[in-house]
Amino acid sequence: MIQNWKLCSAQKNIRKSSSNYNVRSKAKNFLIILISPSGGGKSSILKKVLNTTENIVYSVSYTTRKPRHDEVDGSSYHFLSEDEFFFMKKNNEFLETAKVHGNWYGTSISFIRKSIAKGKHIIMDIDYMGALQILKKKISAITIFILPPSREIWLERLKKRGTEDDETLQKRLQTAETELQQLQNFQYLVINKELDEAAEKVKAIILAEEMKMMRNTDIIRRFNEK
Ligand code: 5GP
Repeated sequence: MIQNWKLCSAQKNIRKSSSNYNVRSKAKNFLIILISPSGGGKSSILKKVLNTTENIVYSVSYTTRKPRHDEVDGSSYHFLSEDEFFFMKKNNEFLETAKVHGNWYGTSISFIRKSIAKGKHIIMDIDYMGALQILKKKISAITIFILPPSREIWLERLKKRGTEDDETLQKRLQTAETELQQLQNFQYLVINKELDEAAEKVKAIILAEEMKMMRNTDIIRRFNEK
């Protein structure tokens, strides 16, 4: 019974997001949203994709989290106080916002607009709540869920990373369980067994999206002009 209910609600969500189908599939440039549980490897895949493509830019998020020792303001994140963050939020400067592990995160609308105007795709590393907010908007976006090859390998990778203390690790594991429940709301699944291969798969998805008939109506129109 519960399983049936879950399935129905998942189908409803998919139907809801496909009501924006035309907007999603027509735009020449689009958002590429990578979602994964902590330790899923999305930031390494993202870096690899950015380093080996030309027409994709990275959306640097805004956050109230304190910088880690190796993070640079403006390239890892734009680090803000809560007051600064909520000032921007009140001014509608974010496309989406979410509170993750006790800190606020948000995506700048003006960066997205400028990048689309320059003919770029925008790749984003955001959590599932932010991704779901974007899917409800009339903006062209594709969603790719990155999953480790197995639960055992995932837990091993997470512990090896060693960037978190025990309490934070437990919090992240809890969040990850919620994230895994959201899998069915997203369009593509890439298993991250090996980094290069996973990055190539993400690039293949982007390429296929670029070649969708609906995204290329201008080329067809020009071809048909006599
Ligand atoms: P971290 O603090 O470890 O860099 O990121 C924690 C989580 O916040 C990750 O799941 C990351 O994808 C997510 N995140 C980073 N930037 C944003 C953002 O702009 N919006 C949302 N919704 N999540 C974000």
